[in-house]
Amino acid sequence: TKQLVDIESKHGREPRLTTLAQDIVRSVITPGDIVIDATAGNGNDTCFLAGCTGADGKVFAFDVQRLALQRTAKRLSDMQHEQVELLLHDHAKAVNLIPATYHGKVAAVMFNLGYLPGSDQNKTTLPSSTCRAISSLLSILRPGGICTILCYRGHPGGAEETSKVEEQLAALPVTDFLVETYAANKDEKTPLLLSVTKH
Ligand code: SAM
Repeated sequence: TKQLVDIESKHGREPRLTTLAQDIVRSVITPGDIVIDATAGNGNDTCFLAGCTGADGKVFAFDVQRLALQRTAKRLSDMQHEQVELLLHDHAKAVNLIPATYHGKVAAVMFNLGYLPGSDQNKTTLPSSTCRAISSLLSILRPGGICTILCYRGHPGGAEETSKVEEQLAALPVTDFLVETYAANKDEKTPLLLSVTKH
């Protein structure tokens, strides 16, 4: 099932898809859960996830840039440092780095594609590794678990990456997953938030 929702009506005049992604994910997380930030970046979502899962939970946060993980580490409180594992690895290999005991138990996965804000815009996520990461991480979600993918279409390669992700999600069996699409407006350069719920 695919739904295009005009979130402007829900979130006032300045819809922020980053906030909407967090709202969606928060609704399925309970303290103690296992969650994944597939693109740690500046650490906003990693910190948010650590807050949701609490001291008994676990957050695995991936990024391929050391700078991103350094920025993320700085944002974490001492307590959060213990529950967050920062991994300098390609998210396409994430499943191999997450202990098998957590497979099938992951409550949420967040992707925020594109480049690290305030850094080299050429070091961006790429369609092939993004799609591999999505498919492998969907396979370790628990029933009722959610994966959000925030896609940007304004930078070079962004629109192509977004189309690949949309195609990939459109091919998922509807018996296993619900896919929803959110856009702030109809501008074709505007970001898209895709959310996948595992039945
Ligand atoms: N969610 C982040 C936040 O809250 O600040 C912002 C993420 S930023 C838009 C995208 C990040 O993805 C960049 O830091 C980039 O280094 C990272 N990235 C690019 N390719 C990656 C890959 N193959 N695996 C993991 N992270 C990757």
